[in-house]
Amino acid sequence: MRYPDWIWHNGTIKPWAEATTHVMAHAIHYGSSVFEGIRSYDTPNGPAIFRLTEHNRRLLASAKIYDMPMPYSVEQLNAACREVLKANQLGKAYLRPVAFRGLGGFGLTADTPTDVAVAAWQMGAYLGDDVLEAGIDACVSSWQRFAPNTIPAGAKAGGNYLSGQLVAREARRLGFGEGIALASTGLLSEGAGENLFLVFDGALHTSPVSAALLNGITRNTLMTLAREAGITVVERDLPREYLYLCDELFMCGTAAEITPIRSVDGRQVGTEAGPGDAAHAGAVLRPVRWPHAGPPWLAGAGRRLRSDQRAAFHRGAPPATATRT
Ligand code: PMP
Repeated sequence: MRYPDWIWHNGTIKPWAEATTHVMAHAIHYGSSVFEGIRSYDTPNGPAIFRLTEHNRRLLASAKIYDMPMPYSVEQLNAACREVLKANQLGKAYLRPVAFRGLGGFGLTADTPTDVAVAAWQMGAYLGDDVLEAGIDACVSSWQRFAPNTIPAGAKAGGNYLSGQLVAREARRLGFGEGIALASTGLLSEGAGENLFLVFDGALHTSPVSAALLNGITRNTLMTLAREAGITVVERDLPREYLYLCDELFMCGTAAEITPIRSVDGRQVGTEAGPGDAAHAGAVLRPVRWPHAGPPWLAGAGRRLRSDQRAAFHRGAPPATATRT
């Protein structure tokens, strides 16, 4: 693997190899880190980071849940993200801000310093090369998500991803593209690292945040864009079998973007057959397919589309430019 040249670490840009930590850092032993995954895109106006402020706000929210002191503000973290992109001359990239309890004692409650880093690298489609068009075959995991009031699903914390690893590794071992986890209630939760949407009669359905899921920024974006495009969005408890009965199914997340699911547990989704037909997911999805390529929420800079650009956006065309409002 080729790593980028530069990384932002505790306030400065430094060579990648110099961003080290001690093996006795708290986070390594106890999972005490919080992080984000953010994408930047090349646009006609140059590289732009998608919903940057919302991501860094969620980073601070995750730290707050774990009572982890955070030495940087949202604005400073936004600047760090821009700096690390620039240092590595990246346009389309994945950004990874991470904050963790560092070296400073060995007990669970040790008052350790909070180390903060932001890395950026080139990354294609997370779940495979052609999955954004072809879709994936998914399975329901034998592992459930954590029960309410155990490990908070609303925090994007390193330790939470022990659950994600169990779900994702089991799915890969069994030959599936991704695993879908049920909540401790037995109702649908989310993918190992993605939220889920089901389509019934042209309406989007998704599980509520009480189903042990991360309140995804892509999920929020799709719900907003769908509502603006006149698509009904329903947040409700969903039993497992509805995965087999829905007309269309897809996962979404910063890394996975919008990945159609063509089968679950060997049962074909919808009525049309086979790979390639995941494109039928486009019927409902097309109006909401451009949140990443188009710039309704760029760089947290408050740039919004003009109404004519917005209309083009909803027709499925990438807007040529964005304006500041
Ligand atoms: N659920 C989990 C468990 C995730 O790791 C992610 C990726 N951050 C998501 C959902 C999607 O969240 P977002 O759209 O904010 O990336």
